[in-house]
Amino acid sequence: MGAGDYYEVLGVPRTADDKDIKKAYRGLARKYHPDVCKEPGAEEKFKEINEAYSVLSDSQKKSQYDNLGHTNFTNASKGQYSGAGGPHGGGGFSADFSGFGDIFDFFGGSSGGPRGARGPQAGNDVLMRMVISLEEAVSGTDKEVQLMHNESCPACNGTGSETKKLHTCKRCNGSGQLQQLSQTVFGQFVRMTTCNECMGRGRVPEKKCPECKGTGHTRVKRTLSVHFPAGIDTGMRLRMEGYGEAGDTGAPSGDLFIEVQVRAHSRFVRSGDTLETTLEISPAQAVLGSSEMIETIDAKHVDLTIPAGVQHNTALKIPGEGVKRRGKPGDLLVRLKIVVPKSISPEQREFYQKILSAEGKRSDTSKKGIFSGLRGKK
Ligand SMILES: [Zn+2]
Ligand SMILES: [Zn+2]
Repeated sequence: MGAGDYYEVLGVPRTADDKDIKKAYRGLARKYHPDVCKEPGAEEKFKEINEAYSVLSDSQKKSQYDNLGHTNFTNASKGQYSGAGGPHGGGGFSADFSGFGDIFDFFGGSSGGPRGARGPQAGNDVLMRMVISLEEAVSGTDKEVQLMHNESCPACNGTGSETKKLHTCKRCNGSGQLQQLSQTVFGQFVRMTTCNECMGRGRVPEKKCPECKGTGHTRVKRTLSVHFPAGIDTGMRLRMEGYGEAGDTGAPSGDLFIEVQVRAHSRFVRSGDTLETTLEISPAQAVLGSSEMIETIDAKHVDLTIPAGVQHNTALKIPGEGVKRRGKPGDLLVRLKIVVPKSISPEQREFYQKILSAEGKRSDTSKKGIFSGLRGKK
């Protein structure tokens, strides 16, 4: 997985549109197709091209990629099992786990390939949903995740056989399938069904492993340490390659997908990389200008200057205090609400009356009705 920047892989500028991307992909895919190109490393190159295209051709994935940058997008989730317990390094378990993960908008993504009727079958993918706080999404976080999944049985090395030896299934002669004849009014039909002796694998344990009852799998609870990169948002999925269900011996494990949901925050609203908060100010602050201490999402205190004459609903920007995505952090907008006080002290009343008369307007302390007011204007 040594692919570089996806735009570079496809040889297109960052401004390239769908058409350019498709065109570049087609040209390269034709050139490096393993059936055509016998250059060393062509297959690897072909994979990189496809990986790049699968992201850049999908508008949602592309915008995630553009937002997070290559490193974050592809290395979003460097996972590892943590904590004590479990056969660390045992049973061929940890050796297969590269800990590679990437951020991935789920697309029926399965590294295991189709489930064939024959031969060792790849493990199933596992989908998990996790709720994280806005603070965690903004700054990125590492979290311990509890995971229940199947792993290769350490007693029999995942073969399901106590002797670790397998025989060809006598029932289906190793085909994994059985022919079933059924008589109907239309005649005789042959139906293929999965062999129930070997469950389609074509091979059966010489002697069933007592630990896993011949399945080759044990159900294990794991604690997984998962990195949620800064900038992650609701609906994004982290892919932890190989952390899904164990496959048959010799077949790859499925992947674990963690779908993220970011909890709503009491003070901040997120839109992309921008955070927004509201600040209530008095009419005097709006007229004369003022300064207020603003608490950012990571509990920093920033002195905000409110300019004189600011209008209601104005948003003042505090740069860099939004979502802390590496490279280009977002901004914090402080939206001002000018709140008119409902009760004021006698002293304040006096000042307001002075302002009113300075503005050349009358107060309604004379208790004149609305009609006399209208008449007076004529
Ligand atoms: Zn069979
Ligand atoms: Zn076993």
